[in-house]
Amino acid sequence: MEIKKKIKLKKIPTRASEKYRNFPMVPRVVFGNGSFDQLGDILLPKRKHSESPIIFLVDDVFEGTALIPRIPKIFCDQIVFISAEEEPKTTQVDALVAMIREEYQELPSGIVGIGGGTLLDLAKAVAILLTNKGSASEYQGWDLVHKKSIYHVGIPTISGTGAEVSRTTVLLSPEKKLGINSDETTFHQVILDPELTKGVTHDQWFYTGMDCYIHCVESLNGTYLNAFSQSYGEKAMDLCKEVFLTDLSKTESQDKLMMASWHGGMSIAYSQVGIAHAMSYGLGYLLGVKHGIGNCLVFQYLEEFYPEGVATFNKMMQRHQIELPNGICRNLSETDFDKMVTVALSMEPLWENALGDNWRNLITPEKLKSIYQKI
Ligand code: NAD
Ligand code: ZN
Repeated sequence: MEIKKKIKLKKIPTRASEKYRNFPMVPRVVFGNGSFDQLGDILLPKRKHSESPIIFLVDDVFEGTALIPRIPKIFCDQIVFISAEEEPKTTQVDALVAMIREEYQELPSGIVGIGGGTLLDLAKAVAILLTNKGSASEYQGWDLVHKKSIYHVGIPTISGTGAEVSRTTVLLSPEKKLGINSDETTFHQVILDPELTKGVTHDQWFYTGMDCYIHCVESLNGTYLNAFSQSYGEKAMDLCKEVFLTDLSKTESQDKLMMASWHGGMSIAYSQVGIAHAMSYGLGYLLGVKHGIGNCLVFQYLEEFYPEGVATFNKMMQRHQIELPNGICRNLSETDFDKMVTVALSMEPLWENALGDNWRNLITPEKLKSIYQKI
């Protein structure tokens, strides 16, 4: 199988003149139960005038719930409900941008994403594409965005992905699943209101929470590890262990998982994820398997690479009586397996982080296929 040569994240920093990444962080963040109600005050100074709306992209799981009247919609603002059943797509971003351009003469004053990683990523991408011409698919990659994005706010309603703090928005295009990684992607404001996560179903709570746990395992066991990543990764790991392996009150658990997600996101910001993520991308691309559950499906079979991480993961699964689906890859063809393997192996920085410079000699397409066959 041919492995395409791609730019290495670690060796080539964001800009040619930079020896180390000059990483953007979320400049403003509010934390606390009920902090969602500060959104109106936060948005007010950002409103350009009455014809320049704030567009609220909201997970449709909240349609008709008590959260909606709390959204500070004024003037010509609009609430757009979006399903998070599928991973966000570049075509979806393009359609939202076209809709906003058609309905309004003026550019919006802001985009607010309310939901899980899916809605947060859509909000980031729409904020970028409103000022950058063309399709979202043209910006998938590293540092391809050159015009300032619209002011955008992220309000997570489920914890784990770290999308609230990251510099990427992961999108599915007809050709690939890849993030728009840019300085313009990061939110200008985040509201961390743990109470918003209270309605998440048990299984989904676990899958998205495990995304955070796996971020920590992959970052802390990676060759890219440095003191910056480690400091965040260890904190996130401790919080995950508290949440998933000890008895906490519901509110304590919500608070801690929200902060674990934040720290886990910060940890991978300055390093990388690893094998579970690379392989989960393959599952997501071919079968549309969602990120959190996809990571779990792969991770359970990675004891060879992450022995301690997988042992703890198994304990967490047992404690919360999680049964992962099986037989997902049972009826796949050789071409399907090849496709997933190609997508997984194309994530070069992830493999390099996991296995070092010599990764091509340590992992083979056959090995990956044998793992996929178990899923
Ligand atoms: P999600 O947004 O896909 O939502 C998962 C499910 O939970 C959906 O059914 C949703 O409706 C539901 N949900 C969300 N909040 C809820 C609430 N409060 N009550 C009840 N139901 C609720 O979940 P996710 O796992 O947070 O996000 C996955 C996405 O995040 C993937 O598309 C993945 O690619 C992306 N991701 C992005 C980054 C990044 O840095 N940008 C990092 C990791 C993952
Ligand atoms: Zn992840």
